[in-house]
Amino acid sequence: MLNILFIADVIGAPGRDVVRALLPELKRRHAIDLVVCNGENAAGGFGLTRDSASGLFAAGIDVLTGGNHIWDRKESIDYLRGEARLVRPANLPPGTPGAGWRIVRAGDGTAVGILNLLGRVFMKEADDPFRAADSVLEAMRGKCKVVLVDIHAETTAEKIALGWHLDGRVSAVIGTHTHVQTADERVLPNGTAFLCDAGMTGGFESVIGMDRDAALRRFLTGMPERLTPASGDLRLNGAVLRVDPATGRAQSIERLQIRFAMPSGEGARRLSGEEPAAAVRAEARVRVAELRAGGVVPTLALVSVGEHPASQIYLKRKSEACAEVGIEVKRVTLAAGADTATVIEKIRILGASRDVHGILLQLPLAPPADAGAALEAIPPEKDVDGFHPVNAGRLAAGLPGFVPCTPRGILHLLRYYEVPLAGHRATVLGRSAIVGRPLATLLSSRGVDMTVTVGHSASGPSLRDAAREADLLVAAIGRPEWVTADWVKPGATVVDVGIHPAAPGREDVKKLVGDVDARGVAQVAGALTPVPGGVGPMTVAMVVANTVAAVERQMSGVRV
Ligand code: NAP
Repeated sequence: MLNILFIADVIGAPGRDVVRALLPELKRRHAIDLVVCNGENAAGGFGLTRDSASGLFAAGIDVLTGGNHIWDRKESIDYLRGEARLVRPANLPPGTPGAGWRIVRAGDGTAVGILNLLGRVFMKEADDPFRAADSVLEAMRGKCKVVLVDIHAETTAEKIALGWHLDGRVSAVIGTHTHVQTADERVLPNGTAFLCDAGMTGGFESVIGMDRDAALRRFLTGMPERLTPASGDLRLNGAVLRVDPATGRAQSIERLQIRFAMPSGEGARRLSGEEPAAAVRAEARVRVAELRAGGVVPTLALVSVGEHPASQIYLKRKSEACAEVGIEVKRVTLAAGADTATVIEKIRILGASRDVHGILLQLPLAPPADAGAALEAIPPEKDVDGFHPVNAGRLAAGLPGFVPCTPRGILHLLRYYEVPLAGHRATVLGRSAIVGRPLATLLSSRGVDMTVTVGHSASGPSLRDAAREADLLVAAIGRPEWVTADWVKPGATVVDVGIHPAAPGREDVKKLVGDVDARGVAQVAGALTPVPGGVGPMTVAMVVANTVAAVERQMSGVRV
């Protein structure tokens, strides 16, 4: 028997969190061969992006289906066009990007046809879903016995009618779109499993998955209001189908409505950097392949002076991440004792080379080399670390340029997890040129729109009060486990930038700790980045992203 899991409309990051947490056990318990999931609301509640799709695929989804919101993110259309695991509605006008149906292989090798359709009643105009289904089934004939249809439609009548229309010709017709699960699951007389609406996966303390206060204000005032995904009372909705692969007839359909509670003792949501970093690298891989196809080999020079032990680990991680996406790495290692003039000379040669697109100087430099002078020798257009004064100045002035990898990675991570930023307060502990200062600039920049306080070693006792007022608290101070729970506003998001070896005898942590006392802070914060596996992978991913950007800018003649 073939077991297919269908997961109902995933709403934003809270929905993705639920899928990530529950899917492995669901797959095991039901011996699932194929997971199909409606993903058209997976990015912030509207549309699908490469990041949100990558997160769902990484969690174990095999195929994503769409609906009327699938194109809500204009910036993602190119991605959606080329994603082979996505099925968008089939009854859209000819020339619409992407595929309306696909035949995929389940884990046991069975060919399964996946068809996505849009309803026409109370929806924007689409072609006739009934006749579109007929013609797709004709095209699928002889290629697969098992077919699953996701009908994304507003009215029960239209979905029920489609169920009868296709009974005996497909294995399942599952409705999506209303986000309200119906309790009418059954196998129709000729062997088609049917569920009028599978519901949604996300926060149920909401109005169909979105923040209920904002939704209410919209109804009460009629004024436009930005809706964000809700995160209270998280649930996974969907259905498990058992299908005979020889005939394509469904044997059973079991409706799922699973509540998800955070495991006790881990109050804070864990904002892992691994998943968004993988998505950044995946995008870079595509762009590097295009550059290579055009005869350009993206190349990054990694320059170091001396054998600083932690630097060796960072250099290895950066080299591996670049190699994984197809960026050529040129390691230039100068012996400890090299003076500033020698380092500058080396950097000037790399700067003049047309074959080198990015230069990264690994800090700290062994004495007597002076890092400031060496950094200034990197041409700004190759400064993928964004430490050159020209790039630092451009960031401060709100102009395009290279943004340092750790702050850029932190912002990307916050956006990936859809942490509310605009109009909220942030406190950044630390004012270094590498992390604190550029991050504070980014968070307060137009488009991110946070109100930011920056703290440092001379801030005095009032800094703790500023931290306790922050919706977002970033710790980048270089002091192990220094930020304790009494620094954190209940429910705040905490980003831990620090990396330190754990003290001997600490069996409760892996080898590393951060600037945050994670055990205590996790009981108060709403969300927390782990150490390791939080900011670190994002920093490395941004080295890759900045290098790709450097090549593309140089190819198009942009100076910085
Ligand atoms: P840094 O250059 O040493 O700067 C530390 C900053 O923290 C300084 O601005 C300092 O203030 C401030 N500070 C120190 N003690 C403080 C206190 N008690 N209260 C408030 N502020 C205090 O360090 P960094 O390069 O920014 O790095 C910070 C941490 O992040 C380190 O642990 C580093 O290893 C880690 N890091 C991690 C990544 C990653 O990818 N995960 C990347 C970069 C850095 P003053 O300016 O007054 O001295």
